[in-house]
Amino acid sequence: MKNVILFGPPGAGKGTQAERILKERDMFHMSTGDAFREAVSKGTETGRLAKEYMNRGELVPDEVVVKIVEEKIAGIDGAKGVLFDGFPRTVGQAEALDPVVDKLGRSLDSVINIKVGDEEVIGRLEGRRMCRNCNRIFHASWNPPKQKGVCDDCGGEIYQRDDDKREVIMQRLETYNGQTKPVLEYYGKKGILKEVNGVAKPDEVAKEILAIL
Ligand code: AMP
Repeated sequence: MKNVILFGPPGAGKGTQAERILKERDMFHMSTGDAFREAVSKGTETGRLAKEYMNRGELVPDEVVVKIVEEKIAGIDGAKGVLFDGFPRTVGQAEALDPVVDKLGRSLDSVINIKVGDEEVIGRLEGRRMCRNCNRIFHASWNPPKQKGVCDDCGGEIYQRDDDKREVIMQRLETYNGQTKPVLEYYGKKGILKEVNGVAKPDEVAKEILAIL
């Protein structure tokens, strides 16, 4: 049972890599972005709060994020590893995760930093499309669904996230560079930080990550 964090800027390929890893490993996928989008579509209190931050490209407050993570992973079979995706995104979240993990009798094994530059990220996010049903990720030009607007896997509706619009993308990058990057130092000091080249082909990135796992 390994507990692993997929780390990187928005558009690094965390979601795409998580899809691939989950095909090879029986892990619980803890994506805070997916959890918030689910809460938004259900119209819950957390969803209403999160949406305001998400649409501005800002981070949802730490206490809200940590609470949703704790709730989601508390009931997971201890034998099953957790794949954290898009969490933690601040040093405060990383500090809050340590006691949660301890309490559940788990440990953090690796933090995998998927390295991608800002220009590449902007091109990826502007073209990104997603399935509303299964969250599969496509790209309008580089990896479109076979039938326009329809998910190849589940037939769900393909849409563009509100926060994948240019102004919000730029804000999300700024948020990443200012608030999220310092998390790398936190895990670097713990000696569990690994790096992969996120600009390689998705299959190659996946191979590198699976080798670490
Ligand atoms: P993502 O799908 O990971 O790009 O997340 C989409 C948006 O959800 C982010 O831009 C944030 O507004 C919010 N969000 C997701 N995960 C976190 C987190 N760990 N901390 C704060 N906000 C988050």
